[in-house]
Amino acid sequence: MTLHLPLTQSYATLGPRFYHAQQAQPVKAPELLLLNEGLARDLGLDPEGLKSADGVALLSGNAPPPQHSPIAQVYAGHQFGGWSPQLGDGRALLLGEIETPRGTFDVQLKGSGRTPYSRNGDGRAWLGPVLREFIVSEAMHALGVPTTRALAAVATGEMVQRERAYPGAILTRVAASHIRVGTFQYFAARGDTEALEALTAYAIRRHYPEAGGPMEFLSAVVEAQARLIAQWMSLGFIHGVMNTDNMAISGQTIDYGPCAFIDTYHPQTVYSSIDRMGRYAYDRQAQIGGWNLAQLASALLPIMGGEEAIPEATERVNVFRDSYQQAYLARFGAKLGLADPTADDLPLITELLEIMTAEAADFTNSFRALTEGYNPLPDSLAFAAWHGKWQARAPAREIMATANPAIIPRNHRIEEAIQAAVAGSLAPATRLIEALAHPHDPPEGTEDLRLPPEPHEVVAATFC
Ligand code: AMP
Ligand code: MG
Ligand code: MG
Repeated sequence: MTLHLPLTQSYATLGPRFYHAQQAQPVKAPELLLLNEGLARDLGLDPEGLKSADGVALLSGNAPPPQHSPIAQVYAGHQFGGWSPQLGDGRALLLGEIETPRGTFDVQLKGSGRTPYSRNGDGRAWLGPVLREFIVSEAMHALGVPTTRALAAVATGEMVQRERAYPGAILTRVAASHIRVGTFQYFAARGDTEALEALTAYAIRRHYPEAGGPMEFLSAVVEAQARLIAQWMSLGFIHGVMNTDNMAISGQTIDYGPCAFIDTYHPQTVYSSIDRMGRYAYDRQAQIGGWNLAQLASALLPIMGGEEAIPEATERVNVFRDSYQQAYLARFGAKLGLADPTADDLPLITELLEIMTAEAADFTNSFRALTEGYNPLPDSLAFAAWHGKWQARAPAREIMATANPAIIPRNHRIEEAIQAAVAGSLAPATRLIEALAHPHDPPEGTEDLRLPPEPHEVVAATFC
């Protein structure tokens, strides 16, 4: 079986300021752990080719793509609000792009070794974060959320040193692109207007061909992010590291690190071990999204006419608030089975979330209980009163059934899958991935995956 992987490298045509040509660092003993055969086929790739020795060599970085050199992309970003003038792919490499009937997709290795942007990092990833990104990004896709995808996970046969030594792994990630808010910030900060023009034109061609220029491009990104973050909220998803370098202008969820889905509902929930101030808490995500988009607008100013463009750019960023509110209302309205939710329904949504907070209710299971027609909070008088008001709005089960998943990637299940994988068994990970492919209609025999964690199973913090 030979591997046929037709890759282009259009990003490199932007010029050497945008990247560093870089080969992956070979690994000792590559072994294919997981292959997303459905995604492979969607990309027009033969799964057997990817499983072959040539395929595994490519997915581990031991053999470069035949067509051209891989590249490490450069970008900058605000990390937890602090400015970093140069970041970039410190442990990732863009192998190239693949053209499909549904568009162009980046194929990227993550964990493939050091690059000029590695700073103090080792350029590697360990099995835990690779599995978390694989499981969560594929679950998000099945939930209908715009997201990067996971094509493969490969063990390197080498150890990676973190708090202790862990088995190393490489993720092959597929994305609409890896252009970030931070990519624009990088060139803006250097005063490189020519590069900004070229990058914007490229991003428009690739993602928003209907946009006539940077202003309309800005608006398109604002809309995409408003919809995306509202969707995260409706699923109890917390990204965890909404730095500007982790916000893709395509509107896909990207850079899964210490992300998590809420079990017990509380609006201020934080899981990320590195988010000590709660900057990226569940209920701050929209506000942070708006802040990041303001940074994108600032970066675009030099090619929008400079200071004179500030009022219009500001107005376009401020549209985020309304677009988000609308998307939030549509998503949470659907969770309550409302056919045409209006602003008048907001109190109904808010009141339920307040009751769930007070009762420490499980986010996913409470909405699913409403969907399946039983009472998630039988002992709550407040809930009984709310239920009457809700029924008066004539909720529709069919709407709820597609808005309220039965299965989400729960933190304790991911943790369990990672621990088993480190001990040598991929069975729990594979079982989880298969169940999560049908989140609204989970297969028989997966009821245990719907349960919230027992007290001793609760994952209080996630790491990357
Ligand atoms: P993240 O917050 O994971 O998106 O990473 C922020 C920056 O740190 C990016 O430029 C990454 O490429 C870089 N980085 C993260 N982990 C490593 C690592 N193990 N080695 C080198 N660079 C890394
Ligand atoms: Mg990142
Ligand atoms: Mg990263």
